[in-house]
Amino acid sequence: MTKIIEINNLTKKYKAFKAVDNISLVIEEGEIFGFIGPNGAGKSTTIKMLLNFIFPTSGEAKILGMDCVKQSIEIKKLVGYVSSDVRYYHEMTSLDIFKYTAEFHGVKNSKAVIQHYLDYFEIEPNKKISDLSLGNKKKVAIVSALLQNPKLLILDEPTNGLDPMIQHRLFEVLEEKSREGVTIFLSSHDLHEIQTHCDRAAFIKNGQIISIEAINKGKEIEKKVILSAKNINQESLEEIGATQVKQNDENWQFIYKEAVNPLLQLLSQYDVADIEIKPLDLEDKFLSMYE
Ligand code: ADP
Repeated sequence: MTKIIEINNLTKKYKAFKAVDNISLVIEEGEIFGFIGPNGAGKSTTIKMLLNFIFPTSGEAKILGMDCVKQSIEIKKLVGYVSSDVRYYHEMTSLDIFKYTAEFHGVKNSKAVIQHYLDYFEIEPNKKISDLSLGNKKKVAIVSALLQNPKLLILDEPTNGLDPMIQHRLFEVLEEKSREGVTIFLSSHDLHEIQTHCDRAAFIKNGQIISIEAINKGKEIEKKVILSAKNINQESLEEIGATQVKQNDENWQFIYKEAVNPLLQLLSQYDVADIEIKPLDLEDKFLSMYE
């Protein structure tokens, strides 16, 4: 596999404060890679170093085998970027920006491609940037990034401000691009978004990567069971495969990934007042890390 992004011991310090603290990461070709963490975790700072908007304090990063500081001009020709706060010249219209981007990157058949994206993302071509909402500005930035046929898309909180239908369309395009071999680096603070759309994700907190996980896109096997019942004993639950069993009086909670029938048979012997069975999600897995 070709390494598209390679980060080695990257650190950014502001005086004594480490906004990014010694992170290392490899992202392979065609991956949709999530970069998730709470606000202030260091996501944008990492991305800004990848694009050479700010210099690392130490460490290095490579994109497509090129050094992010020394070969940034070459890198920028191949990377589409959506910043977390989109800023364009206020007087330009969406269409002005698309035409400019297409010309700059030598996009073939640009008129038809632009029209396709205008329709697809429901963008009003002749409105000035100054008159657009945050979500509509994001759409302009997204289309600009897509237009240039990049090898890598770096998207910093791209769904911020987008309505659910447009979010859905965005991920349809991203998944199509990924199938074509485009690599997608998606920063987000939304676990659900990452869980639904990414192949892998890195979790960042206080500037440090605390975990890198493969994601089973929407196909959660493990379940979380929450129930309320009298006189259950923990051993009988564990015998049928329950793990991480927690009890508080009559309230039980555990993780279960075996067949459902043995669980139902066991529970039928008790007086169950309430039960909830739901897929274990990233939130369950990682909430504790953020607390
Ligand atoms: P995220 O994108 O995950 O929300 P950022 O990368 O924007 O987080 O910020 C990481 C941390 O670095 C935050 O605590 C932020 O306040 C701090 N930070 C970012 N830029 C600067 C700067 N120019 N000077 C000082 N601190 C900064």
